[in-house]
Amino acid sequence: MNLILFGPPAAGKGTQAKRLVEARGMVQLSTGDMLRAAIVSGSPLGLKVSDIMERGDLVPDDIVIALIEEALPAADAAGGAIFDGFPRTVAQAEALDDMLSHKRARIDVVLRLRVDDEALVARIVKRFAEQGRADDNPDSFKVRLAAYNAQTAPLLPHYRAQGKLIEVDGMGTVEQVAREIDAALDGVRV
Ligand code: AMP
Repeated sequence: MNLILFGPPAAGKGTQAKRLVEARGMVQLSTGDMLRAAIVSGSPLGLKVSDIMERGDLVPDDIVIALIEEALPAADAAGGAIFDGFPRTVAQAEALDDMLSHKRARIDVVLRLRVDDEALVARIVKRFAEQGRADDNPDSFKVRLAAYNAQTAPLLPHYRAQGKLIEVDGMGTVEQVAREIDAALDGVRV
């Protein structure tokens, strides 16, 4: 099964993806994690993206598309992937459809975690205090939220029209959201 975890920054995508990896043996493809690893390693890619990410802007499509392309064979071998934080633009969504269709695969379901803006801000303030992630500062978070609203949320009608979109209330506890996700996934035919 190929699944997109969709939602604004701090909606809980990463947390839920990691739980699905443990519970269902799925493979998580998080472009954010891949980019942060590149920064930590000090690679040319990391140097290129670190300022962009710290500001909260999106990194160029070709960079993240290449990261996903490289990671797809392993996900394919594992029977599918959880896309976490990808696609974020129309160009990325089109590239993903293309890459999957070459493997005779497709996106089976898009789970949208709905969390209101006030709760997102509260979560980010807490995470910034606990983890100190550079792009969780209030200014960068504003940019990230604006990028989501302007460039990522417009993908929703596309997936809705394909009948792939399932809305999940992301405001509850991790366990409550997990239960809703499990119920939704159990109803998906692959
Ligand atoms: P995330 O961990 O998914 O919140 O991503 C953190 C940051 O990495 C984002 O604010 C972007 O700067 C960058 N990033 C991650 N995934 C993408 C993507 N699919 N397209 C563009 N930029 C991305």
